[in-house]
Amino acid sequence: MEGIRLIEEEIKGCAKCPLHKFRTNAVPGEGTCRFGLMFVGEAPGFNEDRQGRPFVGAAGKLLTELIEGILGLRREDVYITNVVKCRPPNNRDPLPEEIEACTPYLERQVSLLRPRIIATLGRHSTLHFLSRAGIGARGIMAVRGKPYRIKYAGLSITVFPTLHPAAALYNPKNREVIEGDFKRLKDMLGGLLSYM
Ligand code: URA
Ligand code: SF4
Repeated sequence: MEGIRLIEEEIKGCAKCPLHKFRTNAVPGEGTCRFGLMFVGEAPGFNEDRQGRPFVGAAGKLLTELIEGILGLRREDVYITNVVKCRPPNNRDPLPEEIEACTPYLERQVSLLRPRIIATLGRHSTLHFLSRAGIGARGIMAVRGKPYRIKYAGLSITVFPTLHPAAALYNPKNREVIEGDFKRLKDMLGGLLSYM
């Protein structure tokens, strides 16, 4: 894990885009890819910025429950990160130039950890991966719950889009949808693990 810690340290000191001026802590990501699985959200929120760790607020609590309860993995068995590593002020959407400045970090994380499956959480993260693979921008509800084979950071990777857990917090319908997607993800993972 030598290399990944190095990238994480670099991110903590990064000033490549204006978002560094607003942050308390950069949020590089954490965990391992020991089962070939990475989760990618959009950008850190309030709690993440405070703690320097991804998905530690209410949405993160749900994500952790889904990882443990449905996938049967521990949180530290997966790598969790975001497209953009510093919190945009007032949780606004990251700007295209901020995403562009930050993307090399995600590419290096992917290239080093070599996940088999990247589960994208929500519309922004999904778009980041699928649009680069030339898969047109359709709504998250149209693309979620299905695997897409793409090239990313020079690797062949399966992208599996699902909802952002924040969208499922107070919406029982979305909660059912994300739980269904995680069951599908577990099946895909099971197929993958039998080859490891
Ligand atoms: N939402 C995200 O997209 N990422 C986090 O790390 C936390 C909330
Ligand atoms: Fe650097 Fe990314 Fe933070 Fe911008 S958002 S300062 S590119 S780590």
